Amino acid sequence: MQNVPHGRILWYPGQLTPNASVEATAAYQTVKLNVLRLTGTADSQRNARLAKVRGALCCPACRADLLDFPSFLRCSSCSAEYPVRDGKIYFIEVPNATDELDSVKYRLKKALGKAYYSVGIAVFAPTFPFNYRAAVLRFVEPDKQLVIDIGAGNHRIDQRIVTIDLFDYVATDIVCDLSSLPFRDESVDAFISRSVLEHVPRLTQICKNLARATRKNGLAAHLIPFMFPFHASPHDYQRLTHIGAATLFPGFELLEQRNATGPFTLLTLLLTELFAVIFSLGNERPKAFLYLTFCLIFFPIKFLDFPFVGRPSMLGIAPTIFTVTRKTRSQTPCPL
Ligand SMILES: [Zn+2]
Repeated sequence: MQNVPHGRILWYPGQLTPNASVEATAAYQTVKLNVLRLTGTADSQRNARLAKVRGALCCPACRADLLDFPSFLRCSSCSAEYPVRDGKIYFIEVPNATDELDSVKYRLKKALGKAYYSVGIAVFAPTFPFNYRAAVLRFVEPDKQLVIDIGAGNHRIDQRIVTIDLFDYVATDIVCDLSSLPFRDESVDAFISRSVLEHVPRLTQICKNLARATRKNGLAAHLIPFMFPFHASPHDYQRLTHIGAATLFPGFELLEQRNATGPFTLLTLLLTELFAVIFSLGNERPKAFLYLTFCLIFFPIKFLDFPFVGRPSMLGIAPTIFTVTRKTRSQTPCPL
């Protein structure tokens, strides 16, 4: 098949003002059709998400515009090519999971699909079930806004929210690396995440980049661990106190903060981790399976957290904290 460029995509719905010219609207319609053809998938919801996010995308290597080809995007400046397969965009090669527990989790996520989250995480995981979707939807309007769930794994919380991940899950729209973000300056209304930011190296630099790509008055809504044992996926670099989470993004103000899990989650986590370490005699592979086994034994304790979540007095010993901040000023340009 001949690779014929469809031309640059210059418009998407969020950019059209009420005074947009007829030509601009017509051009958008043409471009939209090209996007749909480009993705080559019957998944209309994925097409709608990609059409929505396309105008915000740029080359992650040099931040120049991307040109559309039938099966890839090409940078207009550095000529890097990014494959588009089954309606997904791949900005990186998909890495392999290296940690034992992580690779077990990765296989479980792939095998169980939605059940991994609805049953596995909500019931048997050692953490109190926090309604991340409801918490996020109190602040964003995915119908009107471009909302991006970073490191979403195989869990799509809403069909209108674009998902990105380092790994290629069924629920992933864009495969990319957070340290090399494929979004234009001030192009995204909100970045959201759940237990992801502890896994990124050079967090300050990544947060500057997320802040750069967020529109003025756009939001950052992130669930981040504080008093939580080490866990890979694929690496684990840091914890943040509530003050650390509130001041993570330069030029952002705090809108809301609460502990998503409480002291009984902490107790469940400690018991599960401690017993897995003791009975595995320090060996990683049995530890991963023992960890999942002890989850099945200790998980009911976490439900005692019910009266202790969403309490400012519990922030100091919270396993996980949900923080929402808003971008109040643009910052100096963020270098590549
Ligand atoms: Zn480039």
